[in-house]
Amino acid sequence: MSSSKNRSLPQWYDALLAAYGPQGWWPGESPTEIIIGAILTQNTNWRNVEKAIAALREARLIDWQALRDVPVSTLARLIRPAGYFNVKAQRLKCFVEWLCTRHDGRLDSLEKIPPDQLREDLLEVKGIGPETADSILLYALSRPSFVIDAYTRRIAVRHRLAPKNDADYEKLKAAFEASLPRETALYNEYHALIVAVGKRHCGPRAKCEGCPLAAFPHDAEAI
Ligand code: SF4
Repeated sequence: MSSSKNRSLPQWYDALLAAYGPQGWWPGESPTEIIIGAILTQNTNWRNVEKAIAALREARLIDWQALRDVPVSTLARLIRPAGYFNVKAQRLKCFVEWLCTRHDGRLDSLEKIPPDQLREDLLEVKGIGPETADSILLYALSRPSFVIDAYTRRIAVRHRLAPKNDADYEKLKAAFEASLPRETALYNEYHALIVAVGKRHCGPRAKCEGCPLAAFPHDAEAI
């Protein structure tokens, strides 16, 4: 896979948008909530994350200082619905500590950091991997950083954008970013459309009939 322009990627977008329309996807009511959701969603589905966020909201913990002050055991109990709650409570604490010690607990102080530098900084926070970092950048901080998730990877392999054994996160991200205008709104919409087609058609068993991407060369058995 190369990170040079791939003409199919803008075409996939057009086909998905034509089929499904704008998704209006914004995973949270505020940047703080979106970041919390991005950390909690690791290895679980969004419905469970919503339950955990509702509990945090009720406990008035959608707030960086409050999250810093709350005991980690209380935090773990509240986010239990999201699964792996002890690990995720630690991860939330690590992020909060980073934000409070390095940036005064203020998301707006991240605005002056160039996107690539900010991504590197986020990846240094314990428990923040590339997908979480990019979700934070794109959805909470409105930075154009393409998110690769399991659906994107599966579709990329089935459409021969990446070999099954080398569907590397950074390479796939680079391929999408090299092929699209660097625009936050576009990356946001594209990711939402990929999730939509993944849920409807491109699960562990591909249902190619009627799929908006069926006209593009693919091999449903590739993964
Ligand atoms: S379901 Fe088939 S056509 Fe649709 S994205 Fe997956 S492999 Fe491609």
